[in-house]
Amino acid sequence: MTDRKDELAENLAKVERRIADACAAAGRAREEVTLIVVTKTYPADDVRMLAELGVCHVAENRDQDAAPKAAECSDLPLTWHFVGQLQTNKVRSVVGYADMVQSVDRARLVTALSKEAVRQGRELGCLIQVALDADESGRGERGGVGPEGIEELGELVARSPGLRLDGLMTVAPLTGPYAGREQAAFERLMDLSTDLRRAHPAANMVSAGMSADLEQAVAAGATHVRVGTAVLGVRARLG
Ligand SMILES: *Cc1c(COP(=O)(O)O)cnc(C)c1O
Repeated sequence: MTDRKDELAENLAKVERRIADACAAAGRAREEVTLIVVTKTYPADDVRMLAELGVCHVAENRDQDAAPKAAECSDLPLTWHFVGQLQTNKVRSVVGYADMVQSVDRARLVTALSKEAVRQGRELGCLIQVALDADESGRGERGGVGPEGIEELGELVARSPGLRLDGLMTVAPLTGPYAGREQAAFERLMDLSTDLRRAHPAANMVSAGMSADLEQAVAAGATHVRVGTAVLGVRARLG
């Protein structure tokens, strides 16, 4: 193996151990939690090595970075998640490679995703991104819709052709009442998921937790954790 592949294998093993320990501590089966490796800012070569090391899910947050990478890796059996703020003019490109969009947060985006999924003959999984730091406008600083907007947006996704409502996603807020209280934030997301599942039982994905707080997410009940830095290293530029 190359040095880089050794490094990735070692980091993956550490993250795997953290997830397993967190599951054990929470009395959950390890299979209840899926690891998504966030490969943003890292090259296609890394994605290829991760696939060879057994990674099945990768995530990206900027289309400009993701589109060429996904094209280079189109032969790999990977599920691609889009997790960044998404402008409608990027929808055509993103629907071309993404299996899931985790950052669905407004009606205009749902309409654009649906139209494009139908045009490309694809079914796209959607998570509603919840902003637990939403201001009066109902929107979060880093995207997301406030809790009171989930139901309406969920209905819209559920009845939009080409889209599948799969659940909820959040990023632990840096401001507001949940700042520094990751586990409380993730528990709130779980309650919101319970509400959503009353009307949409199949929308049972809960995507929460990153490198720094995956334990809190697993403890709260997350089904998917999104880990970048702990697998690939500290990113050279913001992404
Ligand atoms: C970058 C990113 C992650 C991963 O963050 P790390 O701290 O590098 O693990 C997870 N989710 C989203 C939405 C991200 O943008």
